[in-house]
Amino acid sequence: MEINQSASKIMQQANKLAEFTAMEGGLLRAYLTPEHRQAHQQIADWMTEAGLQVWEDSVGNQWGRKVASNPTLPTLMIGSHSDTVANAGKYDGNLGVLLAIEAMQVLSDIDLPFNIDIVAFADEEGTRFNTTLIGSSAVAGCFQSNWLDIEDNDGISMRQAMLDFGLQPEIAGHDQYTKEQLLAYLEVHIEQGPVLESKDLAVGVVTAIAGAKRYQFNVRGMAGHAGTVPLDLRQDALCGVAQMISSIEYFASNHDVVATVGKCEVKPGAVNVIPGEVNFTLDIRSQDQAILESSCVTLLNQLEAIAQERQLTFQSEKIYQAEAVPCNSKLQQQWAEVVEQQTQKEACLLHSGAGHDAMVIAKIADIAMLFVRCEKGISHNPREQVMTSDVGVALTCLVEMVKKLAVSG
Ligand SMILES: [Zn+2]
Repeated sequence: MEINQSASKIMQQANKLAEFTAMEGGLLRAYLTPEHRQAHQQIADWMTEAGLQVWEDSVGNQWGRKVASNPTLPTLMIGSHSDTVANAGKYDGNLGVLLAIEAMQVLSDIDLPFNIDIVAFADEEGTRFNTTLIGSSAVAGCFQSNWLDIEDNDGISMRQAMLDFGLQPEIAGHDQYTKEQLLAYLEVHIEQGPVLESKDLAVGVVTAIAGAKRYQFNVRGMAGHAGTVPLDLRQDALCGVAQMISSIEYFASNHDVVATVGKCEVKPGAVNVIPGEVNFTLDIRSQDQAILESSCVTLLNQLEAIAQERQLTFQSEKIYQAEAVPCNSKLQQQWAEVVEQQTQKEACLLHSGAGHDAMVIAKIADIAMLFVRCEKGISHNPREQVMTSDVGVALTCLVEMVKKLAVSG
């Protein structure tokens, strides 16, 4: 089959998977639900058609294996996730799974010096149990048995949900992979950002998955009458926070970080009262862990200095952190060579601001990711869109990357 036909087939398969949804008029496919079962049955059928040996693992990930003529050889893992957020697009995660299966179809007649395991991770988004990356965590040996007690919004525990799905919760995550088994992990994913579109490129090579920290800040001043207290005698918490937010934006634009204040709550929140207290958040990310760490120290000092100058109290609490994960440099180089060969353009190197399964699999394998342009960078949204021609480019690149690994090891 021609690559163009294969790309059209993948687009149709993405439409088909989107039918397995719990949401009327939209896409929602959460972990251990009937939709998960239906989608994975469909994926297993497509894997079988591509000549793969299929199985489901202990946490409900769907696998398909292309066995090397010498099955004791190491394994190249390729995949992405099949679950979605609420009111999702059709391509986040799913595109990477479908591309991997189709690549095996293209390579079906070629004997490779490694096994290939294609995986559809059953939970990346954390839609049902509010804990993300369950599928890949199990594969990487970091499934935590206390997760089994987490309940969904209907009070159903993960343990019960696994039993209802036909799994055995007591052995969840016991079939993990080891470093020795794996050659590398490849993942193709939509970019979920506007960089490739702005450069008019179909695909790009990922350098790293950004690390992130999130903070909750509390700033207190003194509430008072909006008419009677002169400006120089005020401790206006919101004016202080406004200055802090400006300094955050200024800092981020001059350093290799992105920073966002996404939530801001003013108390008492009345038109004629000087704000006495403000709670606000900061999300800060960088592909370089050292830069992220030093930026947080500098920024927090700056915010405290602003508070002191304005006689405000300032409290901060770190509420989340994830370390930056670099992609393997040799694999990046190989992706770049493949992309340049296929597109006749210089490969764009970009980092991922969003989290991916690859960042967990990095604990047990060298990882490498390829991003596919998506329209206006929109994701987690029914308007998520990719071009069939870009899917064709991504497929060719994935096939050529596998062949390159077969030659170079
Ligand atoms: Zn995703």
